[in-house]
Amino acid sequence: MNLSELYQDVILDHGKRPRNFGDLPTATHEAEGFNPLCGDQLHLRLLVKGGLIADVMFNGCGCAISTASASMLTQAIKGKSVEHARDLFARFHRAAMSGDAGEDALVLGDLVSLIGVHQYANRVKCATLAWHALHAAIEQTEQSVTTE
Ligand code: ZN
Repeated sequence: MNLSELYQDVILDHGKRPRNFGDLPTATHEAEGFNPLCGDQLHLRLLVKGGLIADVMFNGCGCAISTASASMLTQAIKGKSVEHARDLFARFHRAAMSGDAGEDALVLGDLVSLIGVHQYANRVKCATLAWHALHAAIEQTEQSVTTE
């Protein structure tokens, strides 16, 4: 199995069995994301306590890549500081846009599997949707983000 097959497996697994999927009635921060190009939509909810993301859930419906990306995002930030989530967003966004994680690969871990979609321009929006929603939720800038 080569590296790209391994990455595909990670995406397929999260796409089929998304982690932290569902509602979060106690959420303190939330945002919705829409990607009209693909039809992906999701709602991300965070419970922030003392600067820590104590819990995070998402729901909605989208393609395998947007679902996998949201699922992996929740795993990456759950229990971490808001500052860490902000930092991950910046690194992930940079890597997704350039198609190369570079030195951030170590920090991004499994998330690097999503960077491979860079070769399919339209799928980048699927992979970054949840991250834009995260950014909007923690900065409390907008309640709803769209990739268009
Ligand atoms: Zn999509």
